[in-house]
Amino acid sequence: MQLAGLQKTSVIDFPDQISAVVFTQGCNFHCPYCHNSQLIPMKISAEQELMPEEYFFNFLKQRKALLDGVTITGGEPLLQSDLKEFMLKIKKEHQLLLKLDTNAANFKKLKELIESDLIDYLAVDIKFSWSSYQQLAPPGLLSEIKRSVELIINSDLDYEFRTTVVPGLHDREEIKKIAQQIENAENYFIQNFRPVNTLAPELRKQRSFAPSELQEFKVTADKYLKNVHIRN
Ligand code: SF4
Repeated sequence: MQLAGLQKTSVIDFPDQISAVVFTQGCNFHCPYCHNSQLIPMKISAEQELMPEEYFFNFLKQRKALLDGVTITGGEPLLQSDLKEFMLKIKKEHQLLLKLDTNAANFKKLKELIESDLIDYLAVDIKFSWSSYQQLAPPGLLSEIKRSVELIINSDLDYEFRTTVVPGLHDREEIKKIAQQIENAENYFIQNFRPVNTLAPELRKQRSFAPSELQEFKVTADKYLKNVHIRN
């Protein structure tokens, strides 16, 4: 595993659970609003250092009594070749719950993890309407994401889809298209953008949406989805 960092405790990442958050290095997307852009390169620079797995598991050994679970985020965790073994170790050796954050662009790997019963909560980013994905993902990944979305909606997993909404990139029409493309999903979160350390420098001066605008997005998405929530 290429582990880039660890947040030792979080009460907001894993719904209703106290979790440690572990960050994986490398991503196959280049979202302009990404605020973890140092995690995008698969190969780290000479000045960067990865976190040894041994350090992470020693940490878990010491802290697991204070934790309910582990959130695995990125970067894009599905790019890690030994993710399944890593998750198995957390679950079987440390009896902790697992939340996985993903862009869902590797259908086969995601399916394998779901079928192995390794995921207790899955959070999947739906970045844009399908026709706009070419802005941030290599061609060919869209069909993987669509298959993943279908798989998740038809599973009995505890999951959420979520969109980080950015002024200039998302509007009501875009939210309508996203809601339509995940129709029948259980939970959908609209997350406000924060102009912090973004990949695209021009977005560092962009504003966040006002609460009233987020509410308008919710009203739009409510027409197609059962449970729409706002994270401001
Ligand atoms: S926001 Fe997530 S998916 Fe997008 S580039 Fe950053 S780490 Fe990758």
